[in-house]
Amino acid sequence: MKNKRLPLILGALISVALIVSIFVVYNYKNNQKSNASDEQKLTTEQAEKDSPTMEEPKKTTENPVKPEQQPDENGYLPNQTLPTEPTYINGILLANKIYPLPSTFAPGENPEARQALDQMLVAAKQQGFDLVAFSGYRSFDYQTKLYNNYVNRDGQAAADRYSARPGYSEHQTGLAFDIGERGKEDLWLTEEFGETPAGQWLMTHAQDFGFILRFPKDKEDITGYMYESWHYRYVGSDKAKEIKKQSITLEEYLGVK
Ligand SMILES: [Zn+2]
Repeated sequence: MKNKRLPLILGALISVALIVSIFVVYNYKNNQKSNASDEQKLTTEQAEKDSPTMEEPKKTTENPVKPEQQPDENGYLPNQTLPTEPTYINGILLANKIYPLPSTFAPGENPEARQALDQMLVAAKQQGFDLVAFSGYRSFDYQTKLYNNYVNRDGQAAADRYSARPGYSEHQTGLAFDIGERGKEDLWLTEEFGETPAGQWLMTHAQDFGFILRFPKDKEDITGYMYESWHYRYVGSDKAKEIKKQSITLEEYLGVK
Protein backbone atom coordinates (compact mmCIF):
# COMPACT_ATOMS: atom_id res chain seq x y z
CA MET A 1 0.00 0.00 0.00
CA LYS A 2 2.72 2.47 1.09
CA ASN A 3 4.94 1.67 -1.93
CA LYS A 4 2.09 2.25 -4.34
CA ARG A 5 1.28 5.68 -2.90
CA LEU A 6 4.89 6.94 -2.82
CA PRO A 7 5.14 7.94 -6.54
CA LEU A 8 1.82 9.78 -6.23
CA ILE A 9 3.00 11.74 -3.17
CA LEU A 10 6.35 12.51 -4.82
CA GLY A 11 4.59 13.70 -7.97
CA ALA A 12 2.33 15.97 -5.97
CA LEU A 13 5.29 17.40 -4.02
CA ILE A 14 7.23 18.12 -7.22
CA SER A 15 4.20 19.85 -8.75
CA VAL A 16 3.76 22.06 -5.68
CA ALA A 17 7.50 22.92 -5.71
CA LEU A 18 7.27 23.87 -9.39
CA ILE A 19 4.24 26.08 -8.89
CA VAL A 20 5.88 27.82 -5.93
CA SER A 21 9.12 28.50 -7.86
CA ILE A 22 7.23 29.86 -10.87
CA PHE A 23 5.31 32.17 -8.54
CA VAL A 24 8.53 33.34 -6.85
CA VAL A 25 10.31 34.07 -10.14
CA TYR A 26 7.25 35.89 -11.52
CA ASN A 27 7.00 38.10 -8.44
CA TYR A 28 10.70 38.87 -8.51
CA LYS A 29 10.49 40.04 -12.10
CA ASN A 30 7.44 42.19 -11.40
CA ASN A 31 9.20 43.78 -8.45
CA GLN A 32 12.17 44.61 -10.59
CA LYS A 33 9.88 46.32 -13.10
CA SER A 34 8.10 48.41 -10.49
CA ASN A 35 11.44 49.42 -9.04
CA ALA A 36 12.25 51.25 -12.24
CA SER A 37 12.32 54.98 -11.63
CA ASP A 38 9.04 56.84 -11.41
CA GLU A 39 10.21 59.07 -14.18
CA GLN A 40 10.51 56.13 -16.55
CA LYS A 41 7.13 54.83 -15.49
CA LEU A 42 5.51 58.19 -16.08
CA THR A 43 7.21 58.47 -19.43
CA THR A 44 5.91 55.08 -20.52
CA GLU A 45 2.41 55.74 -19.24
CA GLN A 46 2.37 59.10 -20.92
CA ALA A 47 3.70 57.63 -24.13
CA GLU A 48 0.97 54.99 -24.11
CA LYS A 49 -1.70 57.56 -23.40
CA ASP A 50 -0.66 60.09 -25.99
CA SER A 51 -0.80 58.61 -29.40
CA PRO A 52 0.76 59.66 -31.72
CA THR A 53 3.79 60.04 -29.50
CA MET A 54 6.91 62.11 -29.74
CA GLU A 55 9.89 60.00 -30.63
CA GLU A 56 12.28 60.89 -27.86
CA PRO A 57 11.66 59.90 -24.26
CA LYS A 58 10.26 62.77 -22.26
CA LYS A 59 11.50 64.09 -19.01
CA THR A 60 8.29 64.78 -17.17
CA THR A 61 8.16 67.64 -14.72
CA GLU A 62 4.82 67.19 -13.01
CA ASN A 63 5.05 70.29 -10.90
CA PRO A 64 7.60 72.74 -12.24
CA VAL A 65 8.75 75.28 -9.70
CA LYS A 66 6.64 78.38 -10.11
CA PRO A 67 8.84 81.45 -10.12
CA GLU A 68 8.39 83.72 -7.13
CA GLN A 69 9.43 86.87 -8.97
CA GLN A 70 7.11 88.90 -11.14
CA PRO A 71 8.01 89.29 -14.81
CA ASP A 72 9.32 92.68 -15.91
CA GLU A 73 7.55 94.90 -18.45
CA ASN A 74 8.94 92.76 -21.28
CA GLY A 75 7.57 89.55 -19.80
CA TYR A 76 10.90 88.20 -18.55
CA LEU A 77 11.92 87.44 -14.99
CA PRO A 78 14.61 89.77 -13.68
CA ASN A 79 18.11 88.22 -13.66
CA GLN A 80 16.81 85.00 -15.18
CA THR A 81 19.50 82.55 -16.23
CA LEU A 82 19.03 79.70 -18.68
CA PRO A 83 18.42 76.27 -17.10
CA THR A 84 20.42 73.10 -17.66
CA GLU A 85 17.31 71.03 -18.47
CA PRO A 86 14.26 71.85 -20.58
CA THR A 87 10.81 71.86 -18.93
CA TYR A 88 8.36 69.11 -19.81
CA ILE A 89 4.87 69.06 -18.33
CA ASN A 90 2.79 65.93 -18.98
CA GLY A 91 5.20 65.09 -21.76
CA ILE A 92 4.80 68.50 -23.44
CA LEU A 93 7.91 70.59 -23.93
CA LEU A 94 7.32 74.15 -22.73
CA ALA A 95 9.37 77.10 -23.93
CA ASN A 96 8.33 80.63 -23.08
CA LYS A 97 9.64 83.74 -21.33
CA ILE A 98 9.27 82.16 -17.88
CA TYR A 99 10.44 78.64 -18.80
CA PRO A 100 13.41 79.01 -21.17
CA LEU A 101 15.55 76.31 -22.78
CA PRO A 102 19.18 75.47 -22.10
CA SER A 103 21.56 77.09 -24.59
CA THR A 104 22.80 73.55 -25.33
CA PHE A 105 19.32 72.27 -26.22
CA ALA A 106 19.57 71.51 -29.93
CA PRO A 107 17.11 68.78 -30.94
CA GLY A 108 16.79 69.89 -34.58
CA GLU A 109 13.47 69.75 -36.36
CA ASN A 110 11.10 67.22 -34.80
CA PRO A 111 10.36 64.57 -37.46
CA GLU A 112 6.85 63.89 -36.16
CA ALA A 113 6.01 67.58 -36.27
CA ARG A 114 7.44 67.86 -39.79
CA GLN A 115 5.36 64.92 -40.98
CA ALA A 116 2.21 66.45 -39.49
CA LEU A 117 3.09 69.81 -41.04
CA ASP A 118 3.53 68.27 -44.48
CA GLN A 119 0.15 66.54 -44.19
CA MET A 120 -1.44 69.83 -43.19
CA LEU A 121 0.13 71.69 -46.12
CA VAL A 122 -1.10 69.01 -48.54
CA ALA A 123 -4.63 69.23 -47.10
CA ALA A 124 -4.52 73.02 -47.44
CA LYS A 125 -3.44 72.76 -51.04
CA GLN A 126 -6.37 70.47 -51.78
CA GLN A 127 -8.58 73.34 -50.60
CA GLY A 128 -6.72 75.79 -52.86
CA PHE A 129 -4.40 77.32 -50.24
CA ASP A 130 -0.74 77.30 -51.13
CA LEU A 131 0.73 77.45 -47.62
CA VAL A 132 4.42 77.30 -46.81
CA ALA A 133 6.37 77.04 -43.56
CA PHE A 134 8.96 79.77 -44.02
CA SER A 135 10.57 79.32 -40.62
CA GLY A 136 10.98 76.23 -38.43
CA TYR A 137 13.75 75.00 -36.19
CA ARG A 138 16.18 77.66 -35.05
CA SER A 139 19.34 76.94 -33.13
CA PHE A 140 20.31 78.96 -30.07
CA ASP A 141 23.04 80.72 -32.05
CA TYR A 142 20.72 81.64 -34.90
CA GLN A 143 18.13 83.04 -32.48
CA THR A 144 20.90 85.10 -30.87
CA LYS A 145 21.72 86.72 -34.20
CA LEU A 146 18.07 87.26 -35.08
CA TYR A 147 17.15 88.84 -31.76
CA ASN A 148 20.19 91.10 -31.73
CA ASN A 149 19.30 92.32 -35.22
CA TYR A 150 15.76 93.20 -34.09
CA VAL A 151 17.04 94.97 -30.97
CA ASN A 152 19.41 97.04 -33.10
CA ARG A 153 16.60 97.91 -35.47
CA ASP A 154 13.61 98.54 -33.13
CA GLY A 155 15.02 98.66 -29.61
CA GLN A 156 14.76 95.97 -26.94
CA ALA A 157 11.25 96.70 -25.64
CA ALA A 158 9.74 96.52 -29.12
CA ALA A 159 11.81 93.48 -30.09
CA ASP A 160 10.69 91.64 -26.95
CA ARG A 161 7.08 91.83 -28.07
CA TYR A 162 7.62 89.91 -31.28
CA SER A 163 10.97 88.15 -31.03
CA ALA A 164 12.21 85.81 -28.33
CA ARG A 165 15.52 86.29 -26.59
CA PRO A 166 17.96 83.43 -27.23
CA GLY A 167 16.91 80.39 -25.16
CA TYR A 168 13.31 81.59 -24.99
CA SER A 169 12.18 80.83 -28.52
CA GLU A 170 9.77 78.05 -29.22
CA HIS A 171 11.53 77.62 -32.54
CA GLN A 172 14.45 76.12 -30.61
CA THR A 173 12.17 73.18 -29.70
CA GLY A 174 11.92 72.01 -33.32
CA LEU A 175 8.14 71.88 -32.84
CA ALA A 176 7.14 75.36 -34.07
CA PHE A 177 6.62 76.72 -37.58
CA ASP A 178 5.84 80.11 -39.03
CA ILE A 179 3.37 79.63 -41.86
CA GLY A 180 2.29 81.91 -44.67
CA GLU A 181 0.89 81.85 -48.18
CA ARG A 182 3.12 81.46 -51.19
CA GLY A 183 2.79 84.46 -53.50
CA LYS A 184 1.54 86.63 -50.62
CA GLU A 185 4.88 87.17 -48.93
CA ASP A 186 3.86 90.72 -48.04
CA LEU A 187 1.42 89.20 -45.53
CA TRP A 188 3.98 86.92 -43.90
CA LEU A 189 4.42 87.73 -40.20
CA THR A 190 1.41 90.06 -40.23
CA GLU A 191 -1.88 89.95 -38.35
CA GLU A 192 -3.66 90.31 -41.70
CA PHE A 193 -2.62 86.79 -42.68
CA GLY A 194 -5.06 85.57 -40.02
CA GLU A 195 -7.89 87.36 -41.83
CA THR A 196 -7.22 85.79 -45.23
CA PRO A 197 -9.09 82.64 -46.31
CA ALA A 198 -5.79 80.73 -46.09
CA GLY A 199 -5.08 81.98 -42.57
CA GLN A 200 -8.67 81.21 -41.58
CA TRP A 201 -8.44 77.69 -42.99
CA LEU A 202 -5.29 77.12 -40.96
CA MET A 203 -6.88 78.42 -37.78
CA THR A 204 -9.88 76.16 -38.28
CA HIS A 205 -8.04 72.95 -39.18
CA ALA A 206 -4.60 73.05 -37.53
CA GLN A 207 -5.72 71.03 -34.51
CA ASP A 208 -6.69 68.11 -36.75
CA PHE A 209 -3.00 67.83 -37.61
CA GLY A 210 -1.77 68.35 -34.06
CA PHE A 211 -1.01 72.06 -34.24
CA ILE A 212 -2.20 75.01 -32.17
CA LEU A 213 -2.13 78.72 -32.90
CA ARG A 214 0.40 79.41 -30.18
CA PHE A 215 -0.08 83.15 -29.59
CA PRO A 216 -3.76 83.95 -30.02
CA LYS A 217 -5.34 87.40 -29.96
CA ASP A 218 -5.71 89.11 -26.58
CA LYS A 219 -3.60 86.55 -24.72
CA GLU A 220 -0.38 88.50 -24.52
CA ASP A 221 -0.57 88.62 -20.72
CA ILE A 222 -0.62 84.80 -20.67
CA THR A 223 1.71 83.82 -23.52
CA GLY A 224 4.05 86.81 -23.28
CA TYR A 225 3.67 87.52 -27.00
CA MET A 226 1.40 89.64 -29.12
CA TYR A 227 -0.99 87.91 -31.51
CA GLU A 228 0.93 85.91 -34.14
CA SER A 229 -1.42 84.64 -36.83
CA TRP A 230 1.46 82.72 -38.41
CA HIS A 231 3.13 80.85 -35.53
CA TYR A 232 1.93 77.27 -35.03
CA ARG A 233 3.17 74.78 -32.47
CA TYR A 234 2.93 71.00 -32.70
CA VAL A 235 1.54 69.25 -29.60
CA GLY A 236 -0.14 66.17 -31.12
CA SER A 237 -3.74 66.02 -32.30
CA ASP A 238 -5.45 64.90 -29.06
CA LYS A 239 -3.99 67.79 -27.10
CA ALA A 240 -4.37 70.28 -29.94
CA LYS A 241 -8.07 69.43 -30.25
CA GLU A 242 -8.59 69.82 -26.53
CA ILE A 243 -6.79 73.17 -26.44
CA LYS A 244 -8.84 74.36 -29.41
CA LYS A 245 -12.09 73.12 -27.89
CA GLN A 246 -11.43 75.01 -24.68
CA SER A 247 -10.11 78.10 -26.51
CA ILE A 248 -7.13 78.26 -24.19
CA THR A 249 -3.39 78.79 -24.51
CA LEU A 250 -0.71 76.16 -23.96
CA GLU A 251 0.19 77.87 -20.68
CA GLU A 252 -3.37 77.49 -19.41
CA TYR A 253 -3.57 73.90 -20.64
CA LEU A 254 -0.39 73.03 -18.78
CA GLY A 255 -1.50 74.88 -15.66
CA VAL A 256 1.35 77.38 -15.52
CA LYS A 257 -1.00 80.39 -15.91
ZN1 LIG B 1 7.39 81.79 -34.91
